[in-house]
Parts: sequence; C-alpha cells; structure tokens
Amino acid sequence: SVRQINSVNPATEQVLARFDPHSPAQIETALERATAAAGQWRSTPVDVRAKHLERAAALLRADRNRLATLITEEMGKPIAEAEAEVEKCAWCCDYYASEGPALLAGQPVATAATRSHIAYDPLGLVLAVMPWNFPLWQVFRFAPPALLAGNGAVLKHASNVPRCALAIADIWDRAGCPPGLFTTLLVGPGAVPDLLADDRIHALTLTGSTEVGAAVAAMAAQHLKPQVLELGGSDPFIVLADADVPAAAAAAVTARMLNTGQSCISAKRFIVEDAVADEFTEAFAAGVAALTVGDPLDRGTRVGPLARAGIRADLIDQVARSVAAGARVVTGATVPDGPGFYFQPAVLDQVTPAMAVAAEETFGPVAAVLRAKDPAEAVDLANATEFGLGAALWTTDLDRADHIVPHIDAGAVFINGIVASDPRLPFGGVKRSGYGRELGAFGLRQFTNVKSVWVG
Ligand code: NDP
Repeated sequence: SVRQINSVNPATEQVLARFDPHSPAQIETALERATAAAGQWRSTPVDVRAKHLERAAALLRADRNRLATLITEEMGKPIAEAEAEVEKCAWCCDYYASEGPALLAGQPVATAATRSHIAYDPLGLVLAVMPWNFPLWQVFRFAPPALLAGNGAVLKHASNVPRCALAIADIWDRAGCPPGLFTTLLVGPGAVPDLLADDRIHALTLTGSTEVGAAVAAMAAQHLKPQVLELGGSDPFIVLADADVPAAAAAAVTARMLNTGQSCISAKRFIVEDAVADEFTEAFAAGVAALTVGDPLDRGTRVGPLARAGIRADLIDQVARSVAAGARVVTGATVPDGPGFYFQPAVLDQVTPAMAVAAEETFGPVAAVLRAKDPAEAVDLANATEFGLGAALWTTDLDRADHIVPHIDAGAVFINGIVASDPRLPFGGVKRSGYGRELGAFGLRQFTNVKSVWVG
C-alpha cells in the first residue's frame, strides 16, 4: 500500500527506476546517524568544513556530464541547462568555501562588558523539503551554507527525482563529510509531520508551492522549528515606453522559457506600457515561436517536456480559463502528438489581473501580456498579485528606475536584466512567496543560533 517512488523520463514517459520508500526503521537509523555526524561536524573547525565544500565543488565538476544527464532524464530540462545547473552548484560551494568563514567569524560589539561579541553557532539538523524543478540547485542553494555553518541536513526531495536525491547525498559523503551528515530520505509527503515533530530535527527549509508551504509551515510552527520558505512566484516583467524594446523582448523569451518555464523566478506577467505593447508583443511572440521544442538530450533543444503530466494538465486548464475570460493566444498553447509531456510555448495577450494566467502561478511555458497606460499603472499591475518573489523592470531612464524600485513588492528587482539567483545575493520573497532568505550572508546566517557572548 506504500506508494513507490518512481523515476519517470518525462520525454518518453518510461519508468527508469523504482524505489521502495524508506521504512520507519530505516528513517530511525538515518536520523541516528545524521545526529551523530552533526555532533562531530559542529566541533570541526570552519576552515576544515570549507575544505569539504571545495571537494564537493570539484566532485560536481568532475561528474558534470553524468549528473546533468540524470537531471535531464528525471525532469526533462534541456541538457545544456542541466550542465549549467551542475556548474552553478559548484560555484555556490566555492563561494561559501572562500567567503563563508569570514561571515561566520565572531563579530565584536562594544558594550559595558570587558568584551562582547556575536557568535554564529549551528542549529543542528535541518530538514529540507525540496522540489524537482532544479533538482540539484534547489538543494545546493541551501546545503553549502547550512553545512558550512556546522549543521547537518536531511533531504526529503520531490518524489519524481529520487536518483538526483541519492546522487546529492553521495557527493557530500564522497567529499569526506561525516557519514550521513547529509542524508537523503526516500519518503513521500506523509513522512514530513513525524520528521518535524522529531527532537532531532531543528529547522526546516522548504521550496515548493505556496499551498504545501503554508501547510508544512504550520506544522513546523507547532513545534517551534525555525524555517525558510521559498514558495511560488508570478514575477512581473515591466517594459516601459522608453525601454530598449528589442532587447527586452529577447530577454523576455529567456526569462519566461528557461527550464521550460518551470521556475519560481520565471517572468510570468509581462506588463507593457501601451505605447510599445504591440511592438514588444510581436517581437516576444516571434522569439517564442522560434524556440526549438523537443528531446531535452538534444543540444539544439531550447524547450523540453514538462516534468510531470499534472503540470501540463494545470497549464492547459489555466490557458483555457483565461481564453474563456477574453485573453488572446498569440502563439503556441497546443499539445503535440506523441509521447512526452510536451506543450507548445505560448504567449497570451489582452490578459487582465483576474485571469488565471495572471492571478495564479503558471508553472510552464506560458507568458501573459498585460497592457498598462503609464508607469504608475504598470507598477500597480506588477503588485496586483499574491506573490512577491522577483521583478524585472526595463527602462533606459535609470533615475526613474531608482524611484520605482521601492514601490515594487518583491524580494528582488532586476533593472534591464533577467531575475536570477546568485550565491552572493540574498534570495527570497515577500507576501505568499514565503519568508527568510537563502544565499549571500543572510542565507549563511539563516540556520544559525546568533549567540551574544558577554564577558564581565
Ligand atoms: P509541491 O509544493 O507539491 O512539492 C514540493 C515538495 O513538497 C516536494 O518534495 C513534495 O513531495 C513536498 N510535499 C508535497 N506535499 C506535501 C505535504 N502535504 N507535506 C509535506 N511535503 C509535501 O510542488 P509540486 O511538485 O506538486 O508542484 C505543484 C506546483 O507547485 C507547481 O505547479 C508550481 O506552481 C509550484 N512549485 C513551485 C516551485 C518553486 O520553485 N517555487 C517548485 C515546485 C513547484 P512529493 O514530491 O513527494 O509530493
């Protein structure tokens, strides 16, 4: 009766591997082992921990082709993007190995004491509930800083990427971490409540949908476990009348279609000032229509299949409801014949905020164009969402951009660029996109006990 965890190739719909979920006894053994490993690790000097991150980076790079193929086989992203994902994981390890120790060093603070300082101690074991869309990067956005800070990690990855989940734990083991410091549990969502209740789990990081995030956050809160939530997004991509429209339209294609549109920080709502709306939409739709859709293992492919049948079914439904409400399909939105969860990349024009493709997160290659009469209305439309992860603003007037940035409710604003995560910059959202920050110095200190030390 226990649900199997299957690795299914979304390009062919073939089952590549089947795993029995870990039993309660296996989970217990794993938690014991992880706890022992974390105990050993927290007294390992931070410079030594950093060496382990360097080794993990080297292992990722040495294994790049195998890992990238694994990613593409399990969730269908184009192979070149999978390779870039592996390299980004290595970059994050390198960044924290070189910059992290200084960020974790005790900070003196002048008080009435003889001396006083702030120390950053580890919390213990962090439970990571992670999604399939960047099966390595989602985990490596969290693991290098969490481990460098002296924590251990227990991963409950999405059920459709079990081989990636096992490969990640293998990297940390081979990097020489105490065995089980990074542990992968092959379990379904049903195992999460007991894990959060367990005294050996000290914190939670979750990336996924807003609905699941809210439900799991409530459980973590019941046990007073600190948490970071990276949830859904419906990022605006604002194009003002003074923008470089061809450049914006070209960037829009990548901003929406990277990872076959399955990213929390994909641009999803294209909010364009009336004066340039026709020009932008025409160039954008032409760029989208020209994308090569096909086998993700083929290097010429720009858009692969969606990761799961349900993701495509949701998109078809969102497009249908939006068209019924008056949106116009400019290109795409058809389902090709044959196996694989393919969906022709689409641009919808004449979208209004209440329509499904604007009000809900679209997790796939569907772009919504909304028209604004002026910059003020563009900002209002950008904020007319329950989400607040990233935002892009295209304008050649950088003074005006500076005035607009404080009015955009998002965790990141990129001017004349594509929203992307970067190990050096904090990453996270506001509103129903979650709370807490990953990456940068904030991400490193997120899973620490910020300890005040006072000497009389
Ligand atoms: P989910 O939010 O359902 O899954 C994310 C993770 O949470 C997975 O590990 C999943 O495990 C786990 N999970 C699911 N339900 C529970 C639960 N009740 N208790 C504890 N853990 C749970 O995302 P989906 O993959 O189902 O995608 C659905 C939608 O979520 C997408 O269409 C998209 O809108 C959004 N999403 C957003 C992401 C982002 O980066 N912001 C990433 C992925 C999805 P399991 O796989 O075993 O169910």
